[in-house]
Amino acid sequence: MSIPFYDFGRLHDDHFKKQIKEIFSKIIDDGSFVEGPFNKKFEERFAQMQGAHFCRLVGNGTDALEIALNVYGVGPGDNVGVPGITFYASAEAVLNVGANVIHIDVDPTTGLMDPDSLKRVAKAHKLKAIIPVHIFGLPADIVAIQEICHEKGIKIIEDAAQAQGAILPTGPVGSTRNLVTFSFYPTKNLSAFGDAGAILCQNEEEAQVIEAIRNHGRGNTMIYGRNSRCDHLQAAVLFQKLDNIDALNEKRRQVAKTYFDLLKESEVKLLPKKFLDTSSWHLFPVRLQSAEERISLQHFLKAKNVATSPFYEQAISQDRAVANCPGENDNARSMAGTTLCLPINPFVSREDVNFIAMAIGEFYKS
Ligand SMILES: *Cc1c(COP(=O)(O)O)cnc(C)c1O
Repeated sequence: MSIPFYDFGRLHDDHFKKQIKEIFSKIIDDGSFVEGPFNKKFEERFAQMQGAHFCRLVGNGTDALEIALNVYGVGPGDNVGVPGITFYASAEAVLNVGANVIHIDVDPTTGLMDPDSLKRVAKAHKLKAIIPVHIFGLPADIVAIQEICHEKGIKIIEDAAQAQGAILPTGPVGSTRNLVTFSFYPTKNLSAFGDAGAILCQNEEEAQVIEAIRNHGRGNTMIYGRNSRCDHLQAAVLFQKLDNIDALNEKRRQVAKTYFDLLKESEVKLLPKKFLDTSSWHLFPVRLQSAEERISLQHFLKAKNVATSPFYEQAISQDRAVANCPGENDNARSMAGTTLCLPINPFVSREDVNFIAMAIGEFYKS
């Protein structure tokens, strides 16, 4: 028995490969390699699925964040709040536009941006924008966050790179009035055959600014842009996957449910169960007592051919260029290093989860 973390072989089965090869063959014949008809088709359908007015494809998830910051006019001298538990691209994008990272602490049970910390940090620092992250696929506390930000005129960019399929109180991720960014990197819930990303927005002006920025400022004499176009081949893959994505996310949810059932008496701490129906279950982190315990459990499972990932080993406030930035980070620091992500993808079976739960039980007995 071997349980992989990702399962691309089954995601891209023979039926899918046959379809996509036919589409690729046509694209090659047409010579339509960038921003072809599938880009438009994807943008329209994805915006509709996510409850947004507009979607614009870009090169990757980090570009999506940077361009969203550009749309809000964030640049040198501006402060942007970033939660302590996230993939470092969320902070990197802020540095890349020349702005300052301000750390905002997380809820210690979820890793999501803590609105109380945001309130305190926003009092101590003038924030131009914040980037709440729907980390692990969990929906951030967007209602509380919006209340604080609207009062102070702070712009919100939601990093939904891990959250295609997550549900907020307003509807699917993308249904708020904020700019919402996605990555379609191959490991994400909705994935390309390489790099791609997108930004959801609610008005045409924002959509036009994004279009100009991603394509060297074309069509807008006021904007000096960059190249962050999405390849037509990637857009075709993404569009082709939309029919099936809800079913695949539902399978992830079933895997999560089985973990909750089979690990409820375990020593490892699970995420709050109230997220069962609202997370996109991109990752399934369990919380451990210490960093040492995390390392030994990971080795123990590896010896049984169970692949796991230690997201996240460091809080953003412990990471390189942003380590000395101001803000709050106590919970993020204690959480980082003590979480281990168990395999969750649409193809993890009940037998797999059972095997993993038994192995974890054995680990704590030995
Ligand atoms: C993957 C990811 C990104 C970056 O996406 P890329 O497409 O790799 O640039 C940003 N934020 C989060 C939370 C991610 O998981």
